[in-house]
Amino acid sequence: MNVYPLILKLDKAGNPLKWIDYEAAINLYAKDLVITSLGDKSMVFHGGVNAISHRRSKIEVGSILLTTARVNNRKWVAGAVHPLTNRTLFRRDGMLCLYCGDSFAERNLTRDHVVPTSRGGSDSWTNVVTACVRCNNRKGNSLLEDIDMKLQAVPFAPNYAEWMVLSNRRIMGDQMQFLKARCPKGSRLWS
Ligand SMILES: [Zn+2]
Repeated sequence: MNVYPLILKLDKAGNPLKWIDYEAAINLYAKDLVITSLGDKSMVFHGGVNAISHRRSKIEVGSILLTTARVNNRKWVAGAVHPLTNRTLFRRDGMLCLYCGDSFAERNLTRDHVVPTSRGGSDSWTNVVTACVRCNNRKGNSLLEDIDMKLQAVPFAPNYAEWMVLSNRRIMGDQMQFLKARCPKGSRLWS
């Protein structure tokens, strides 16, 4: 795992684009692709010593970088689908089993298909929930209406800002504020 927190890279319109590591960020500075830093945090990295000046090079990397990258609106249209992994799913549901409501460690959680795939349910954000092993086994291939089990919350598909929050475990305060402002009003990520 990277020792430094990831940097939030924005396109030239200020939309969150992706998480990059500090080496990629230094590369953006070196290629003059950073317009400005919008974050209130920065990290200083030291490079090699210049043979003539004998000075050590130094570069300051901001936590949120407005770059010259072109705008990709596809990520932001309503209904755009972002990668679904167990980790992002469990984080969406706050590490809680959406059936019994208890909190579990990641290794004890599973991906449950509300409408089982064997009955035509899809492997998509709105048909999957976090479930503990016990609840997942108990539910098996049944439909909820056929058994005595209820969902504690309706599964939702994250927008891109929410997905960015879900896909990074170590988000700095200013980055979180930036992303939060682009999440839907009343996003469940903060409830
Ligand atoms: Zn459970």
